[in-house]
Amino acid sequence: MPNIETLRHSLAHILAVVVRELFPGTKFGIGPVIENGFYYDFDFSEVKVINSKLQNPNSKQIQNSNVKNSKQKFILNPNDLPKIEKKMREIIKRDITFQKQIISKEQAKKLFKDQTYKLELINELKEKKATIYKSGDFIDLCRGPHVESAKKINPEAFKLTKIAGAYWRGDEKNPMLTRIYGVAFTSKKDLDNYLKNLEEAEKRDHRQLGQKLDLFHLDEEFGAGLPLWHPKGALLRQIIEDYWTSEHLKNGYELLRTPHIARLGLWQKSGHWDFYRENIYSPMDIEKEKYIIKPMNCPGHILVYKTKIRSYRDLPLRWAELGTVYRYERSGVLHGLTRARGFTQDDAHTFCAPEQLGQEIISTLKFGLKMLKIFGFKEYDIYLSTRPQKYVGILKNWEKATEALEYALKKQGLKYQIDPGEGVFYGPKIDIKIKDSLGRAWQCTTIQVDFNLPEKFAITYIDQKGKKQQPIMIHRALLGSLERFVGVLLEHYAGSLPVWLSPVQVQIIPVGSRHNKYAQKVANSFGSPSPKYLGEGLPKLRFEVKNENETVSKKIREGELQKIPYMLVVGDKEEKNKSVRVRDRKKGDLGMMKIDKFIEKIQKEIESKK
Ligand SMILES: [Zn+2]
Ligand SMILES: [Zn+2]
Repeated sequence: MPNIETLRHSLAHILAVVVRELFPGTKFGIGPVIENGFYYDFDFSEVKVINSKLQNPNSKQIQNSNVKNSKQKFILNPNDLPKIEKKMREIIKRDITFQKQIISKEQAKKLFKDQTYKLELINELKEKKATIYKSGDFIDLCRGPHVESAKKINPEAFKLTKIAGAYWRGDEKNPMLTRIYGVAFTSKKDLDNYLKNLEEAEKRDHRQLGQKLDLFHLDEEFGAGLPLWHPKGALLRQIIEDYWTSEHLKNGYELLRTPHIARLGLWQKSGHWDFYRENIYSPMDIEKEKYIIKPMNCPGHILVYKTKIRSYRDLPLRWAELGTVYRYERSGVLHGLTRARGFTQDDAHTFCAPEQLGQEIISTLKFGLKMLKIFGFKEYDIYLSTRPQKYVGILKNWEKATEALEYALKKQGLKYQIDPGEGVFYGPKIDIKIKDSLGRAWQCTTIQVDFNLPEKFAITYIDQKGKKQQPIMIHRALLGSLERFVGVLLEHYAGSLPVWLSPVQVQIIPVGSRHNKYAQKVANSFGSPSPKYLGEGLPKLRFEVKNENETVSKKIREGELQKIPYMLVVGDKEEKNKSVRVRDRKKGDLGMMKIDKFIEKIQKEIESKK
C-alpha cells in the first residue's frame, strides 16, 4: 500500500491529465497534497475550444464577483466535477504509469515553453537539473513521489469536492487561477466517513446557526470580524456572563472595569507596542496625545494595583474583567465568532507572592476545568507553551515560571504536551483545547505566568519583614472569549443548547385561538408576565406564547427548527385538566402533564445544568 500522501498527489496528476484532455490550451499551476486530499490550479484563460463532452447546457459559468480585474475564465461548474471524476476513474482503470525523468533545466524550459507558470518554477530551481514525470501524454514538472502505476489507487475512494478561485502563489497581484479540490483515502469506507463528518460539521456551522436561531450576524456595512448580537444572542451571552460572574465571586475574585482605549505610552511601557504591534490597530489622536484601542486588559489592572500600598496580607488579589479587546486579524483568517476582530475575554489577573504561585496555578486550573465541564466539555488537550524567540525578561524568571506551570500540571495528574516557543512575549503558559462532539479541538482556557509586567511597572507589596517585594502576575482566561465560546457551544450542541443556556426554554402553543387565554394562564404560572427581561421579578422560565394564526404542526416544526427544548401544546383536554401536552425537542411527545409537574421537571433540569 503506497503512502496516502503519495496517493493523493498522484490523483492531482490524474486530475491534470483529464483537464488537459478536456481543455486544450490550459496552463497548469501546481498540484500539491493538502489535509485529506489534494488540489490542482489551472489557468483556463487561453482555452479556446470547450470540450463538448463536458458542456452542460444548464450550467451557468461561475462568476466570482469578489475578484476584481480578473481575466480568468471560469469554465467549470460544480456540476461538472462528477464528470471529471468519471474520466479520472477511467484513467485509473487504464492504469497509466508515472515515469520519472531527470533532464537539464534548458531541456525543461523547451518542454514547458507554453506553460508560463511551470517556466517560472523552472527559473527558480536551485539545482541544474529538473525532474519531470510523464503520465500518458501529460508531462509535469514535479519532484514526486507518485505511485508506480495508477492501479494502486482505489478508484472508489476519492472525490472532487469544490472549485474555487486562487491567486497564483497566493499573491493578489498575480492572475487568478481555477483551483479544483479533491479528497482521497485508501478505502471507500474512509471516504464515506469523511464526507459524512463534513456534512455534519456544515450542519453545525455556528455562522449559519447564528442566523437560523436569530442570535447574531456579521454585517459588511458594520465591518468584517465584528459580530452584532441580536436579542436572543445577547440574552445567551448574558446568561453565560451571569453564571461566570457568580462563580468568580464565589471563588474569591473581585470585578474590575477598564475603558476600551488608553494612551499609547502605557502600551510602550508594557512592551505590547514592541512585541505585539502587528495585532494592534493604528493609534488615534486625542488632544495631541496618541491613544490606542486596547488589545489586552492587563495594563489597566496593573494601574489599579498601583493605587495603594499592598501588604502580603492582601495577596493573592484576583481581579476579573469581561474585557472587550480589539486585535487586528487579516480578513482571510476571520471566521464568524471563533476568529473575530473585537471580542470579550473572560479575563482575570492574579497578583500573588512567589510562595503562593504554585497553589494559585493549581486552583486556577481546577476552576477552569470545572467551568468547562459545566458547559459540557469533558475532553481536552493540554499544552505547555514555552519561551518564544521574541521575549522580554530574564531567563531565570522564564525558567521559574515554566517550572511552576509544569508543577501544577503534574500535581493535578494532567496529561500535557510541550508546545516549544509558543509562549507569550512576557511569559510561558498553559493552554487547554477543548474537544467538541465531533472531536475538533478549540483553544479556550489559557493560564500565563508573568514576572515581567510587574517589573516594568515596578509594582510591589510589603512582606512580613516590612520589606518591599515584587508580586508575580498570572494572566488567565477560562472560556477564552465569549464570542468564541458561544461559537464553540453552538457547534458542539449543533444549536440544541442545554435548557439552562437556551434563550427560549419553553414555547406554549395553543391549539386554536380559543385556547389563547389558557396558554397565557400557563405562561403566568411560569413567574413574571414580562418574560423578556432578567432581573427583579425574574420568570422561573424563559418562554414564548405562539398564538399566531398558524397550524399546530407548523408551530411545532418551527419550534424544532429553533431548537426550543420544550413545546407545550394546550387545547380543550389540557385546559380541562389544568395540564399541558409536553413535547421534548429530542424525544418528541411526552404526553400530558400537570403544569406544576412540568415546572418541577424543567427546574430540576435547569438547576443540574445538564
Ligand atoms: Zn507530482
Ligand atoms: Zn493579561
